[in-house]
Amino acid sequence: MIDTHVHYLRPEWADALWSPAVRRGSSIWPKISLRLSMLADPAVLVSALDTRAVAQAVIFPELSVAPGPQMPGGAPAALALSRAMNEATAALVARAPTRLAGLAVVNPLGGPEDLAELKRAILALGLRGVAIGASYHGATIASPAARPFLELAQALDIPVIVHPSADGGWQMPRDYGLDLLVGMPMDLTALAVRLIVAGTLDDYPRLRVVLPHLGGGLPALLGWLTAQADPASPAPADRARRFWCDTATATPAALALASETFGSDHLICGSDWPLSATPRPGDPTSDPAAMLGKLPLGVAARAAILAGNARGLFGGW
Ligand SMILES: [Zn+2]
Repeated sequence: MIDTHVHYLRPEWADALWSPAVRRGSSIWPKISLRLSMLADPAVLVSALDTRAVAQAVIFPELSVAPGPQMPGGAPAALALSRAMNEATAALVARAPTRLAGLAVVNPLGGPEDLAELKRAILALGLRGVAIGASYHGATIASPAARPFLELAQALDIPVIVHPSADGGWQMPRDYGLDLLVGMPMDLTALAVRLIVAGTLDDYPRLRVVLPHLGGGLPALLGWLTAQADPASPAPADRARRFWCDTATATPAALALASETFGSDHLICGSDWPLSATPRPGDPTSDPAAMLGKLPLGVAARAAILAGNARGLFGGW
C-alpha cells in the first residue's frame, strides 16, 4: 500500500503557525500538541510505516494551519516558513528515498516569490506535489488571486493536495469540539463546493486536485448541490469527478459512496498518520485495504486504489 497522507512537524513551525491567539479555545491544537513528539521524529515515522505494512508514503508537514497570508507575519512569513518546510521535507525524503516522497508547501495566494519557491521545490528539491490549506481566513484557491498558482501547478504537472484547515473551525461554535469535529470537514467541503459552483477547474483541464478524507461532506451533498444547481452549468456530479480523494478516516459505507462519486480511478489511500487513529492491518473498520475488500471492485481496481493511482499522481519510486 502507498499511504499518501502522512504528516510530520517541527516544534518551531508549530509555534509559528499556532500563535497563542490561534490556540486559544481550539479543540484542534491539543490533538496536534499531544502528537508533536511523534510528528517531529523521522525515525518514528519510518518505523510506523513498517508496523502498518505501508510500502511507501507521501509526507508533508501537518497543515491544519498552513503557511499563508493569515499568519501574523503575513505573506513574507509564509514564504520563509514554506522554504524551511520544503528543504526539511526534501532532506527527510533523502534519508529513505525508496520509502518516502514529499510534498511542497507554498502560499497559493502569494506572489512571484511563492511561485518561484514552488518551482524550486519541485524542480530542484524533487518534491512530487504541493499541499495547501483549504482556506486562509476565508480566502481560497477559488479566488482570482490563486490563478497564477493553479496555472503553475498545471504547467508543472503536479497534484494539488487541499488539506482541511482549522480556519473552518474558527467559524464554528466551539462547544462540544465542533471546530474539530465539524469545522475542519466543512472547511474542505466548502472549498470543494466553491470550486464546483465557480467552475474553477474548467479552466485547468489537466490540473489534478486531491481532497483528503473522502472529500469531506461532498459525496453526501451532491444531491443537494444538483437540486440547487443552475441547469445551464455542467452538473455538479460531473465537476466532482475532477477531484481525487484519499481514504483517511473512512468508514466502509462512506468509502463506497466516495468510490461511486469520484470513481475508483480517483481514489488513493491515505491515513492522516499520526493524527488519526492508527489503522490496524486487517481490521475492516480502520484498514482501507480491508475495507476495499468489501467493495464490489475488481482485482485491478483494488490494486489501483492501494498503489497504482498514487503512482500515477505522484510518480513512481
Ligand atoms: Zn492531514
